[in-house]
Amino acid sequence: MVLQSLMIKLESTEEDKVKLLETIQEYNKACNFVADRAFTLKLSNKFKLQKEVYREIRERFNLTAQFAIRIISKVVEAYKKDKTIKPTFKILGSIQYDQRNSRVCIDEVSLMTLKGRLKLKARVGDYQRVRFDRVKGQCDLIYRNNTFYLIVVVDAPEKSEYDATGILGIDLGIENIATDSDRQIFESKKVEEKRQKYLRLRSTLQRTGTKSAKRKLKRLSGKERRFKKDTNHVISKSIISKAKGTIRAIAIEDLKGIRSKVTVISRGSQRDKYSKWAFGELRNFLTYKSKIEGVPLIVVNPKNTSTQCPECQYTDKQNRKARNEFQCIGCGYNEMSDYVAARNIVIRAAVNQPVVAPVLVVTSHDALAHGS
Ligand SMILES: [Zn+2]
Repeated sequence: MVLQSLMIKLESTEEDKVKLLETIQEYNKACNFVADRAFTLKLSNKFKLQKEVYREIRERFNLTAQFAIRIISKVVEAYKKDKTIKPTFKILGSIQYDQRNSRVCIDEVSLMTLKGRLKLKARVGDYQRVRFDRVKGQCDLIYRNNTFYLIVVVDAPEKSEYDATGILGIDLGIENIATDSDRQIFESKKVEEKRQKYLRLRSTLQRTGTKSAKRKLKRLSGKERRFKKDTNHVISKSIISKAKGTIRAIAIEDLKGIRSKVTVISRGSQRDKYSKWAFGELRNFLTYKSKIEGVPLIVVNPKNTSTQCPECQYTDKQNRKARNEFQCIGCGYNEMSDYVAARNIVIRAAVNQPVVAPVLVVTSHDALAHGS
């Protein structure tokens, strides 16, 4: 099963807007109220907390029973993550809905508000339309740039895989987040600048160590996580479309390879810069998007991909001249390390898996089992 989230734009009149904003504010006020209780009483058990606050939520805030229950579980989730800090909710933060207080149809959405149910027209694109019969239970209402959106989770259909005519090897993250066997690097300068900015901010806040610094740090980590997620989405998307456009299969290392790389990197001087990148997430995106797009995915053994020479196969740690420079002691082949690794991944994928569809189908299922 491949789960995917879709962002649906909602049309709203001024009157609708007032109702929705009112509901969002009341909901988040209630979240903050419950968070305060949870923190003061040191309660992270949903049922115990519910016993304490349910009645009061209903009395103080003009919210339905369904909202009250959702709010309690949302607060518990947030509080459990870090019990040293009281979770805070932005007054215009998102609202979680479920089947009992919302209904999502293809052109229309019905949402519970303080003033009863509200029906809104949904603007659904063609791509989203085909996935709509697969909407899962929960959704989130968010308010951004004066517009309301609904984030829904769908069970995305899988396409059958095409017969690949070649292999695109992808090396995930030593010097660059992703490098392919065409020598293309999937990481822009902007990404690197942003990573550096977050790194500096983080270490300043860590040094400060005050309560407000802790809060800022928490907010920052949320921002950073979203930034990484967005970047991973963009990178995986361009890799998938490149492979698809050239009718190639994608080859990546199995999970162990990525883990050991991260460990190696963590020991080095560039620790923060690289160890914190969400490689597992990028790998998961590649796995599920290739499923959706019907791109065959081959997973190879990661052993020595960065120390073996793709020209003469000579393997030696000393072939890695510098962090991003490979020079073969055997034949003198000289290239950037990430590209060398990507080439080795292609060679392995081709050796292990002849590019024939039935074999690739099996491999890809195998990959999914690893990835999820
Ligand atoms: Zn060589």
